[in-house]
Amino acid sequence: MQGQTADGDRGEHQKQPHGQPEELHDHHACIVDALAAAGEVCAARGAQLTALRRRVLELIWSSHRSVKAYDLMEQLGTAGKPAKPPTVYRALDFLIEQGLVHKVESLNAYVGCPHPTSPHEGQFLICIACGRVDEMRDPAVRAAIRAGAQAAGYVPEGQTIEVRGRCARCRP
Ligand SMILES: [Zn+2]
Ligand SMILES: [Zn+2]
Ligand SMILES: [Zn+2]
Repeated sequence: MQGQTADGDRGEHQKQPHGQPEELHDHHACIVDALAAAGEVCAARGAQLTALRRRVLELIWSSHRSVKAYDLMEQLGTAGKPAKPPTVYRALDFLIEQGLVHKVESLNAYVGCPHPTSPHEGQFLICIACGRVDEMRDPAVRAAIRAGAQAAGYVPEGQTIEVRGRCARCRP
């Protein structure tokens, strides 16, 4: 299937930049890739990537740090007035629903997903020094938590796994 091939390619391509300190990669390529993937994902599903939704995604991808809704409101504002909260939250809801963006719960902020063509429950690595957020997609982690929850009699409905530490650039 075309989508899977595209994701595989992108996965390989993303591996390098994402493992590298921020200033050592061409972040413009990350933004271009993310917007192209968003276009593909939405076209394949018949979802409308409106100019506003695309702009919000672009703002979120402006770096590998997470972005707060408040900052999006400021950046989307016109004539010195911030954009209205519902405008921004509706766009965020859409982007999250399409798997283009994830919410980082412990930061109450948002990051772009580098693998939007394959739905997943990721784990997040958060740099406490520079704010960079990376996504890990280890199925073993997901499976171990599901198994543990089930063993304790829970029916798991979702997972939020966020690891704090120092990224490659910020570690001592
Ligand atoms: Zn980048
Ligand atoms: Zn993701
Ligand atoms: Zn860092």
